[in-house]
Amino acid sequence: MFFRDVIGQDIAKKRLIQEVNEGRIPHAQIICGAEGVGKLPLALAYARYISCNNRGSEDACGVCPSCVKFNKLVHPDLHFMFPIIKNAKTKKEVCDDYIAEWRRFVINSPYFNLNHWLNEIQAENSQALIYAKESDEILRKLSLKSSEGGFKISIIWLPERMHQVCANKLLKLLEEPPEKTIFLLVSENSEMILPTILSRTQRLNIPKIDAECIANTLQQKYGIQELDSYSIAHTASGNFIKALEAIHLDEEKQLFFDLFVSLMRLSYQRKIREMKLWSEQVAAMGREKQRNLLEYCQLMIRENFIFNLKQKELTYMTANEENFASRFSPFVNERNIIGIMNELSIAQQHIEQNVNAKMVFFDFSLKMIVLLKQ
Ligand SMILES: [Zn+2]
Repeated sequence: MFFRDVIGQDIAKKRLIQEVNEGRIPHAQIICGAEGVGKLPLALAYARYISCNNRGSEDACGVCPSCVKFNKLVHPDLHFMFPIIKNAKTKKEVCDDYIAEWRRFVINSPYFNLNHWLNEIQAENSQALIYAKESDEILRKLSLKSSEGGFKISIIWLPERMHQVCANKLLKLLEEPPEKTIFLLVSENSEMILPTILSRTQRLNIPKIDAECIANTLQQKYGIQELDSYSIAHTASGNFIKALEAIHLDEEKQLFFDLFVSLMRLSYQRKIREMKLWSEQVAAMGREKQRNLLEYCQLMIRENFIFNLKQKELTYMTANEENFASRFSPFVNERNIIGIMNELSIAQQHIEQNVNAKMVFFDFSLKMIVLLKQ
């Protein structure tokens, strides 16, 4: 992460760069702001800039030994603390046990939220924390001499998730900071942090990202059409994570549309072999996606039924979906609509009950052969 990779936030960038160039880097800073505004990307770019051996006036050089290590986030003087879950099976209990996953995840997608991270470490629905044990880790790391004579930088992502014991240790460190040590706290809920910690950190508030900057990034890095990029940026209201989710949803919807269309065609043409392959493809997708696909199928069947009743103005379909409906809707009628919806809800129940997905979807496609002829 370089400053140039951080979306928008020119004022914050300028302030951080100025601090470094004027030699007044605070030993503890808290970067505060809502989800998806780029707090962690800013902290990463700032840490890289501080450590760079040959920094320019606006960004790190990218080629010095320090920058090369930052490319993989393996600089020996860069430390991370972030919420994790203790895993008795794998014996993971401190951040360093998750450091490989963390580095890969942050490098691939520096704009993410706690849910995304928990998903990555397969800890859905678990209470993630920065545990008490982490405070021993941080003391140990900071007692080491900095390997290259520069600053030791600790980035603490979501300090509001810190266990009390750990927070107290951190407070001690902030009261008597070890030499050449920088703490960067990246927070979404600073009111949940000990006031004594807050009073010892310099605060940097990060506003929402400019809609213009989000739209530009969507066009340049994600190949989104200009008009779409502005509409996504508008709904994202300054949160880049939300903008990414919108793109992702569009992709998912396109996939579901393709799957729906091909299943209806295969069932109508009674192509059993291909139907089996289709079921295998869907079975490989994961439960969450399968659930969403079934919901999408229900929606499409309902819309096609309404379309068939010549109530087009009551439907909500994209141009693609409507184009398909103009040919497919005659097959969804008073005689089979209840049957199809029943089969979809049975499939849904079975998916919830962890029945073999290949069987569930293949079974559904077989029923559709009969239903579509009614
Ligand atoms: Zn450099």
